[in-house]
Amino acid sequence: MSTTVRASAFTEPERPKNLQIRFVTIGGSFVDVIGLGEHFKNRWKRHGCKATSQFPEEGYLFSIREKANNHAAVCRAIPLT
Ligand SMILES: [Zn+2]
Repeated sequence: MSTTVRASAFTEPERPKNLQIRFVTIGGSFVDVIGLGEHFKNRWKRHGCKATSQFPEEGYLFSIREKANNHAAVCRAIPLT
């Protein structure tokens, strides 16, 4: 299985306020990590499949970053808008 990340085939959405990290997914969409930084509540949201962070919904950046990147590495949904 190839793990090569390709450039997104889709236009990058507008960057929301408090965007900390934006990952491109294997499907060419985006996962946003939104929050106030390392020591504050952060969450992630996926543009293509509508998945969001859960259990917990919010967490420290080091934890949310890993979960968002893991989702980006496997999610093949494309953005529909
Ligand atoms: Zn997804």
